[in-house]
Amino acid sequence: MTRREALKGLFFAGMGLAVGGPLLQSMGTPAHAATLPAPWKEAPEGSRIDARTWDKMGETLGMLGLGCMRLPTRSGASGGFGRHQPLDQEAVNAMVDYAIAHGVNYFDTAPAYGESEVVTGKALSRHPRSSFRIATKISNMNGRPTLEAGKQMFETSLKNLQTEYIDFLLCHNIQNMAGFKTRFLDNGLFEWLKEQKTKGRIRHLGFSYHGSNADFPALVDFYDWDFVQIQLNYVDWKEMSAGWGGNTGATSSEFLYNYLVGKGIPVLVMEPVKGGALANVSDGVAAVMRERHPDLTPAANALTFVGSLPGVMVTLSGMSNMAQLMENVSLFTGFKPFDEQERAFMLTVADLYKSKGQIPCTACAYCMPCPAGVDIPGNFKVFNSASDALLALDSDRKDLTDKRKAFLKLYNAQEAGARADACVKCNACLPKCPQHISIPQHMERIRGLVAKL
Ligand code: SF4
Ligand code: SF4
Repeated sequence: MTRREALKGLFFAGMGLAVGGPLLQSMGTPAHAATLPAPWKEAPEGSRIDARTWDKMGETLGMLGLGCMRLPTRSGASGGFGRHQPLDQEAVNAMVDYAIAHGVNYFDTAPAYGESEVVTGKALSRHPRSSFRIATKISNMNGRPTLEAGKQMFETSLKNLQTEYIDFLLCHNIQNMAGFKTRFLDNGLFEWLKEQKTKGRIRHLGFSYHGSNADFPALVDFYDWDFVQIQLNYVDWKEMSAGWGGNTGATSSEFLYNYLVGKGIPVLVMEPVKGGALANVSDGVAAVMRERHPDLTPAANALTFVGSLPGVMVTLSGMSNMAQLMENVSLFTGFKPFDEQERAFMLTVADLYKSKGQIPCTACAYCMPCPAGVDIPGNFKVFNSASDALLALDSDRKDLTDKRKAFLKLYNAQEAGARADACVKCNACLPKCPQHISIPQHMERIRGLVAKL
């Protein structure tokens, strides 16, 4: 028995899970495949991603899912919620074709992701409905969360996605029971969603979570959820960013994951690469990982950490181009999980990463648009490109002074009204950030650093 087989046996024994071979035995090659462009044709055995079977819900799902929040845009700028960037339909079609051909069958979108539902729906509609699973959400986070508005959102999703049913429907961005109550219980929306499930218009019901450890059990125990989506990555395993304004207490991927596994609930993972931050770690952090796993990029290390966990149903990655998709597909084809020792090593990398003082922004853009015009994720990206050098302002080490110079150049290259110094501290962004980042304080800090430099 190989190390990989031994690990899988160990992981899945007793959990009632079976490790599938190539995806969806039932998928087959549709009759009209010959008329479709070459990339659609099912990839040969051995070049499709590994899959796992979830007996309770009767699903076999590829281990990697395509997150549709950061799809390619026509302008080439990064997509995402709130950015309102027109998406590149042709590029999305090509990615969806490649994904399905290589065994990716889970596609995650949301009404809150701009054009994503419409564009994803168009791309998927070119394929047999049985060859993919759609996940979308009730994103009733802004405005009045009435029953009518919730129903309308669901019906619009069906229309956008050109389907009669949603495979995985999530109550989007739940932070605590009080918020869930306002958005789903008091208005009767949750009862209505359960009815839709009985009618077969929703196949599996779950929620995505952005709150504290303390608030999690009550939500999980409230209903017999089919699955739950959590933020999980090696940096957040022990502790995520601190709460703002006392809104949340401590949160850790480890607690959320263990709680779900203890209840036998499949875990959907979002932000395995922290919005791309773990793909672009500092040189020092990258070097430590490279020494241990010369064949793995920083992003591949992050994805392998998540994919190695037995309770994880699908690892979602918000991919923005074909190169990322191909790299990720290759990683999950003949997937080689980390063992306990390797996972422990990644936690030491997490400590090193955190010592660099990065702002834990995932570039989701939920906080946008800022009424004062600040490009919030843009400023954080610029800061993170030199966080270690900015933490050590007194150091005259050449690499750090070079980094500070590069930081200033990038900062000034932003439009004047979009820079951190345009922040008027209105706090409008604070409750919108699922990472609970103290945005105005960080803007003030960046402004101060720029002034000093
Ligand atoms: S606090 Fe600053 S960054 Fe946040 S919304 Fe207000 S002006 Fe924009
Ligand atoms: S600051 Fe928060 S809400 Fe805004 S992009 Fe970053 S993680 Fe998302």
